[in-house]
Amino acid sequence: KAKRDGGSQVVFYDESQSIEATERFSIGNNLFQAMKELQFELHYQPQIDLSTNRIVGVEALARWTHPQLGMISPAKFIPAAEENGLIEEIGKWSLITACQQMNLWKAQGLPSIRMSVNISGKQITSGLLVDSVKKVLNDTGINPNHLILEITESSVMQQAELAVDTLKALRALGVGVAIDDFGTDYSSLTYLKRFKIDKLKIDRSFVMGLPEDKEDAAIVKAIIAMSHSLGFSVIAEGVETETQKLFMLENGCEEMQGYLFSPAVPADKFAELWSKHHS
Ligand code: C2E
Ligand code: MG
Ligand code: MG
Ligand code: MG
Repeated sequence: KAKRDGGSQVVFYDESQSIEATERFSIGNNLFQAMKELQFELHYQPQIDLSTNRIVGVEALARWTHPQLGMISPAKFIPAAEENGLIEEIGKWSLITACQQMNLWKAQGLPSIRMSVNISGKQITSGLLVDSVKKVLNDTGINPNHLILEITESSVMQQAELAVDTLKALRALGVGVAIDDFGTDYSSLTYLKRFKIDKLKIDRSFVMGLPEDKEDAAIVKAIIAMSHSLGFSVIAEGVETETQKLFMLENGCEEMQGYLFSPAVPADKFAELWSKHHS
């Protein structure tokens, strides 16, 4: 049993940690099967321009439905995939599937929609990212300007020098780069200056408490001001209420995504949503 009493320095055994590790292990094992049997799907969450109220993009979010276990959250299986090495394959699958979806929507008569795809830090450190992006651009023929790669703050800081070069190479291809979950990790402002990026995503944890939480309000305002002076645009994650939306609009944040407008939905549902919203 876990024993962590008040003043004691010694932690014998943390049960919750071990359950987590076991769970990750079994999820990791199941992932191989899942990849083979194509149990993954991408869902798409709209991103809204705050000044026009229009959908300007979507973020592709991986969904895994296990035949027995049901829906498993990416917050669980992405870390497991990073641990067992499958993230490389899943990451490639996400990228190609999202880009193919752009072509499918286009064929259905939707205008070109900007697509954001999440990238794991492991895809940067492996050194394979730039080549796989090149290949996907080639294979699908999509406009690189319509693709944004979302990379978390913590993953770019892990190997910052490599990240600087990788982001430069991606930008040279015409692909956009956004820093995801900004503010949740240690970030060097020196690197922020050197990273060639287009967008900062304010983490949901700062948005949740708005507008009442004074500290969160101060932090969000500071992030927006800093981003703009460095030439980045800002998107707020996890906007759930009208007052949060208003706060973002009034403080000059360009875009938002969140349950207030829509959660991530399957591709067909998104096409419907778009048509309804823009007719
Ligand atoms: P993220 O990239 O920061 O994505 C935002 C998460 O917040 C998504 O969770 C989304 O469904 C959720 N969200 C959006 N709006 C709201 C809101 O208003 N309220 C609340 N409570 N939540 C909201 P999801 O889909 O569970 O994804 C979790 C994380 O898993 C993502 O965080 C991303 O880091 C990772 N992930 C998902 N798909 C992929 C992928 O294809 N590749 C990689 N490398 N990571 C992925
Ligand atoms: Mg993201
Ligand atoms: Mg995020
Ligand atoms: Mg987040």
